[in-house]
Amino acid sequence: MLFRKRKKIEGEKKDIPEGLFLKCEKCGELFYKNQLEKNLWVCPKCGFHFRVGVDFYKKILFDDGDFIKHFAADLESQDPLDFPGYKEKLDRAKAKTGLKEAAVSGLARINGREVVFFLTDFRFLGGSMGSVYGEIFYRAAQEAIKRNIPFISLTSSGGGARMHEGIFSLMQMVKTTVAVVEMEEKGIPFISVLTDPTMGGVMASFASLGDIIIAEPGALLGFAGPRVIQQTIKQDLPTGFQRSEFLLEKGFVDMVVPRKELKSVLSKLLDILGGENGRSQTG
Ligand SMILES: [Zn+2]
Repeated sequence: MLFRKRKKIEGEKKDIPEGLFLKCEKCGELFYKNQLEKNLWVCPKCGFHFRVGVDFYKKILFDDGDFIKHFAADLESQDPLDFPGYKEKLDRAKAKTGLKEAAVSGLARINGREVVFFLTDFRFLGGSMGSVYGEIFYRAAQEAIKRNIPFISLTSSGGGARMHEGIFSLMQMVKTTVAVVEMEEKGIPFISVLTDPTMGGVMASFASLGDIIIAEPGALLGFAGPRVIQQTIKQDLPTGFQRSEFLLEKGFVDMVVPRKELKSVLSKLLDILGGENGRSQTG
């Protein structure tokens, strides 16, 4: 659920014991793990948002764990190019995360309103987009159209398109974009939530096409990373370049919403966008 490296406390010889203390990557303050867990993995001192996995988001965003139904849960990535080491990497990612792919989708409720969700997990090959990821997205969009309910995606995809699948990965940029256009044509609201990091082919396709684009604070969002851009144009980049707040100022994202407020903001947006569609009969 959480990604962290073992880090040394300055002046101490031993590594911090795994699972007891964690150091904020931004302000350097030490916290008990359970203290951070209670605070939804947001630093109580500086507001830094730690990366978390799909299970965490399902827990904090959706009403009723029992209600959640998954779509395309049987789909697993193949190795179409026989790319060296890809199968092993997939096996390791599956074992580490308990997921079959970097993306999951399904049906859930947010404060009583039914939505189709699509979530990605950075721990699974950097949350990169392969052919199965794209297929899961496409099928989820079709479910939203069939059920006439809003669609919410939440991405953490540092890798963009998955290079191990070559052109098959790149084709998913088109496929997911087509899915978004089809939803638009049917009047299905699409909210895209960008978390740290959402980059490359994911950002350059569906993730930047939401009717409303929300970003978690401090997330790195863009196509090429700041280092690559800096080396290419050989100029210093402005402070906060490609971070959520910078992109809000430039009009690329519509809102920056702290994790604690994400569910209530989504709920309000669904009330505005969703009309009566999708209002749960029992919720
Ligand atoms: Zn901090």
